[in-house]
Amino acid sequence: MYFETDAIVLRANKSINNDIFLTLFTKKAGKMEVVSNGAKSSKSPLAACSKPFVFGRFILNTKTKTMKITSCDIHDSHFRIADDLNSLAFGNYFIELCNLTIYPNIADAEHFQLIVEIIHLLSLQNIDYNLLRAAYLIKLAKITGHKPHFDNTCIHCGESTDQFYFSIHSGGMICPNCKGGTDPIKLNHQFISIMMYLMEKDVRVIVKTKIHPNYTVKIIEIFEKFLMVHQGITKIKSKDFLDIL
Ligand SMILES: [Zn+2]
Repeated sequence: MYFETDAIVLRANKSINNDIFLTLFTKKAGKMEVVSNGAKSSKSPLAACSKPFVFGRFILNTKTKTMKITSCDIHDSHFRIADDLNSLAFGNYFIELCNLTIYPNIADAEHFQLIVEIIHLLSLQNIDYNLLRAAYLIKLAKITGHKPHFDNTCIHCGESTDQFYFSIHSGGMICPNCKGGTDPIKLNHQFISIMMYLMEKDVRVIVKTKIHPNYTVKIIEIFEKFLMVHQGITKIKSKDFLDIL
C-alpha cells in the first residue's frame, strides 16, 4: 500500500544507523512519523528531502509499522533558511509551534496552507520576521479553536464597554467591573484593530505592511501566553535561542 501526499518536514531525528526519522505535516493526514531509510548517506536519493523545511510530494509505503518514504518530489527545499542564523532561529520556532499544535491522522488544510506560506516567506528573507511571528501566533489561536473574542462586550457579564481589557485566561475582552486580578491587559482601539488585521488578513499581505515593533512585540508576548494556556504547552524550546538573537 502506498500513500501519496504533499507534506512539509517539521523534524529530522537521526538514528544510530543510516536512517533518519522524520516528522511530517502532511496535507492529507496531518502529523505523520516516517522513516527515510539510508538518508544519512549523502549518496541516498532521499538525503535531499530528509531535512527540516523541505516541502514536497511524498510517496509513503504504509505496509511497515513505521511508514517508509519511497520517494519525494521536492517542490521547494527552502535551503536559504538554514544559511542565515536569524531566519533559521525563526524557522525552528515556526516548525516547533506547528508540531506542537497539529495531530496525527487529522488533516488541517488551513494550518497546512498557512505553514507552507510562512516557511516560503521566511526563505525569501528581507521581511519583518517578528511581524510574521505575531501573525502566525494570532492565526494559530484561531486555527486551534480558541479564536479570541475582540468585540466590545464583556466575555463575563455581557455588558458593553468602551474600556478594553483582554484576559488571556478567559480568551476575550472583559469590562472594568469584571477585570479583577492581574491577568487582564489594557488595550486601546488601535491595538485591537491591528490584532483583527493580523488574524483575518492573508499572511502574504501582512508581510508587506509596516507595523510598529511596539505592537508586534506586545502581540507576541500576549499570544505566546495565550497559546500556552489554551493548548497546554509548557515550553517552546526554540524560543530561548530566538530571544537571545
Ligand atoms: Zn463584565
